Amino acid sequence: MYEAWPYAKGIGGGLQIAPNGMHVLAELGLADEMIRRGSIAESFDFYSQSGRRLGSINRNMKARFGQPAVNMCRAALNEVLVDKAWCANAALHFEKRLAHIEDRADQPIVAHFTDGSSAEGDFLIGADGVHSAVRAHVIPDGPKPFDTGLIGFGGFVPRSLLENTPVGQRVETTFGQSGFFGYGFCSSNPADGVMWWSTQPAHGVAAADFRAMSQDQLRQHLRDFHAGWHDPVPQIVDAAENIVVTDTLDVATLPTWSRKRTLLIGDAAHATSPHAGQGASLALEDAMRLGRLMRDGQELGLTFQNFEHERRPRAEKIVAVARRNGNSKREFSATGAWIRDHMLKLLLPVSARGMDWMYAYDPRAA
Ligand SMILES: Cc1cc2nc3c(=O)[nH]c(=O)nc-3n(C[C@H](O)[C@H](O)[C@H](O)COP(=O)(O)OP(=O)(O)OC[C@H]3O[C@@H](n4cnc5c(N)ncnc54)[C@H](O)[C@@H]3O)c2cc1C
Repeated sequence: MYEAWPYAKGIGGGLQIAPNGMHVLAELGLADEMIRRGSIAESFDFYSQSGRRLGSINRNMKARFGQPAVNMCRAALNEVLVDKAWCANAALHFEKRLAHIEDRADQPIVAHFTDGSSAEGDFLIGADGVHSAVRAHVIPDGPKPFDTGLIGFGGFVPRSLLENTPVGQRVETTFGQSGFFGYGFCSSNPADGVMWWSTQPAHGVAAADFRAMSQDQLRQHLRDFHAGWHDPVPQIVDAAENIVVTDTLDVATLPTWSRKRTLLIGDAAHATSPHAGQGASLALEDAMRLGRLMRDGQELGLTFQNFEHERRPRAEKIVAVARRNGNSKREFSATGAWIRDHMLKLLLPVSARGMDWMYAYDPRAA
């Protein structure tokens, strides 16, 4: 495995791994550790900007789907996966940024890195995310990531901030007239026990411009944006430190996921905007399904075709859900927001049942 960045701990925000992704972690023997280091999410609850409860979904996930949904720090997940790979004697190389790929007949496939070094093998799997360099090899002049017009802010606040509120193990989220806010416990560590995120229309301001701001300026921006939102949103914003700014990107459907001996998986193949909370679980599923198919020992091209045939319909359905969900976080008129909130209240129970297929998927049984 060749990774562009140095090995580092403690980087990234919080995320939720859904039951379908937890099945993969269970297969790797890592589910219990991630439950211990993270926090089981007992439901996903929705509120209006003024704090009116709109509904609650994703209850009893473990009973219904065999695994719970688990909130965790991205850094903890990364650390556990890397440790597991090291223990299995996998060769991990850091600070190796792929520049280009050479795939000549009758020779090994070669990955060339920006430091001038290279590595060769029988095939190459591109798991290099939304900005994938491998994608440019598989589909030269293919689709590029585009900005969805929403911008994300996120980070952690201490557990003590929520310990006296009735949030319990719920993930609480709020639809504003413009934008969206969410928070929930994600770790037993007192310092970073609560993850939070804010999604807002970017209004033409690039993520880079926000990243150039000081933490005080970012906090003030969030205070202004979420002014008047129900408690504890203002308290979380006031306590926020090390605020991370993220673009909200999407990539159009790719015409193919492979070319000769190279295959794309995860966000490189089907970048998923964050609004379905499924991108990381899908990437875990991909890795496991590909591993299983490769073990069957069929010819490489056929394995890649079978992988795409099996995975594409599910991935594209989830990408479409994420796009649809993102639309409810844009800017509404006061009347539009009122109608949206009432529709949500009426439709949430029905639409939640309609999402069970996402969580019910067990990649071990597929
Ligand atoms: C704000 C936000 C919140 C999210 N929340 C959730 C959530 O709650 N639940 C969920 O399931 N998903 C969530 N997602 C989506 C999820 O993060 C992604 O779908 C997931 O990380 C994709 O995994 P991946 O392994 O395909 O790519 P990545 O996680 O992006 O990993 C790609 C890796 O490749 C490396 N790399 C990139 N280019 C090169 C190169 N040229 N050479 C070598 N290495 C390279 C990168 O450094 C990185 O380590 C969220 C996304 C965002 C932005």
